[in-house]
Amino acid sequence: AREVHLASRPEGFPTPENFDLVEVPLPEIAEGRLLVRNLVMSVDPYMRGRMGLGKSYVAPYGIGEALTGGAVGEVVASEAPGFEVGDTVLHGLGWREYSAVDAAEATKVDPRTAPVGAYLGVLGMPGMTAYAGLLDVASFKEGDVVFVSGAAGAVGQVAGQVARLRGAARVIGSAGSDAKVKYLVDELGFDAAFNYKDGPVGELLHRAAPDGIDVYFDNVGGEHLEAAIDSATTFGRIALCGSIANYNTSTPTGPRNLGLAVGKRLTLRGFLVKDHEHLREQFVREVGGWIASDELRYQETVTEGIDRAPAAFIGMLRGENVGKALVTL
Ligand code: NDP
Repeated sequence: AREVHLASRPEGFPTPENFDLVEVPLPEIAEGRLLVRNLVMSVDPYMRGRMGLGKSYVAPYGIGEALTGGAVGEVVASEAPGFEVGDTVLHGLGWREYSAVDAAEATKVDPRTAPVGAYLGVLGMPGMTAYAGLLDVASFKEGDVVFVSGAAGAVGQVAGQVARLRGAARVIGSAGSDAKVKYLVDELGFDAAFNYKDGPVGELLHRAAPDGIDVYFDNVGGEHLEAAIDSATTFGRIALCGSIANYNTSTPTGPRNLGLAVGKRLTLRGFLVKDHEHLREQFVREVGGWIASDELRYQETVTEGIDRAPAAFIGMLRGENVGKALVTL
């Protein structure tokens, strides 16, 4: 079976040379474990942080070791009660064709309820991030004007639509291509959207939201965050979800106008999705319902083959994905 190892730590944008595709024997499974043949795996922005040695909220990946990440697969052997051959499970040992998974770290999912990739995207970690970030962290309320950056990505596409469906006065999105901007407005029902590459983000945001924004869902950081602080209304709320503009550079940029947060009485709050498990049931019910009724739409960008997983990851960092970036195995 094949798996992807970290060959070296990337500097700036990762390159294919940072990864090795390695042939390994099928893992043996001990008591309490499952052998899972993976069907689909996730490539996520946070993995870039783990490839370096900088300060991060998760431990770095080891050089010469297999990468890890979200994956869904089929149980092909089970040494754990409660799991049968043929079950479909979500687990954290992706980047390989076969995983020996501790049953305590595996969650059964139903491939008839949703396509398996959805458990890594719209109904999985990114969807939950959007839901918790907007409702719990940004304390979204009906009538808010909401701005979402990275809006055509896995988290962003859900965040913007939850805001719309929960009664936002106006939802504005930013993304890195005209096709994505069109997708946001035409398919996802954003009220306005702009391509952040078209000019200073502050100006583009001001044009899209002349009366200001009450909530900013920040996937990007840097210039976007500065623009949002500038456009925020009094008592505005900012959910700090990620800062992908700074993930591949050694010269990160930050907002230069934090001083404005004082007079505007802004709340800027960072969060990690894992702290919001109390919302999970509500999330699955509400977002699952909106998907079933076609009120909430989503895309995935699927790359085929474990050998192309590094390229899918690098492509995601460069904005080649619309919606969740996935790799089928
Ligand atoms: P996406 O599907 O949004 O993919 C990443 C996207 O980032 C790209 O498609 C690209 O879109 C955009 N991007 C890349 N570089 C830049 C840049 N310099 N400026 C602006 N946009 C850029 O990824 P996710 O939805 O999975 O993640 C979105 C954010 O949420 C990330 O910051 C991630 O770290 C964070 N996150 C945080 C979690 C938490 O618990 N706090 C959990 C999950 C995700 P474009 O074409 O628009 O540039």
